[in-house]
Amino acid sequence: MQPLNTIEHIVPKEEVQYSKCASCQYSIPIYIMKDAVPHLYCTSCSNVYHERHEIDYKNQFRFTPFRLKVMRYIEGHAPPCECGGMFLFNTPPRCPRCHDIFAVSTEMNTRKRLTVDEMILFNGSTEFVDHGQNRRYEFAINPHAQ
Ligand SMILES: [Zn+2]
Ligand SMILES: [Zn+2]
Repeated sequence: MQPLNTIEHIVPKEEVQYSKCASCQYSIPIYIMKDAVPHLYCTSCSNVYHERHEIDYKNQFRFTPFRLKVMRYIEGHAPPCECGGMFLFNTPPRCPRCHDIFAVSTEMNTRKRLTVDEMILFNGSTEFVDHGQNRRYEFAINPHAQ
């Protein structure tokens, strides 16, 4: 069951990209959201937490000594995922098919993860937010056409 505060968002076919998973070799449909700073992936499913706070993280926390502190702070108030997993900065996006680390995974250097602005969403992923409504992404594609 979906959390109450979740709306469905349809991603038009033109915005869906395909990326081959290095592990299972399947071509996986993905949607890349830009300017999603900061975001954290779930430790056990393909959901994400995106903090949309007004603070401009890129400018305020570009100095390395503050980064880890800020990251621990964000992890500390991120909600638990609906699957029981946690949202952490050192978690990579995982292939929804084989659950291995996804090939197009973005920057994994822990300190740099705070300002990575491209968030990878898979068909059916939920984006949890700190305020406003969570969004569940449904891709307008034929799942059997790959
Ligand atoms: Zn895979
Ligand atoms: Zn999860």
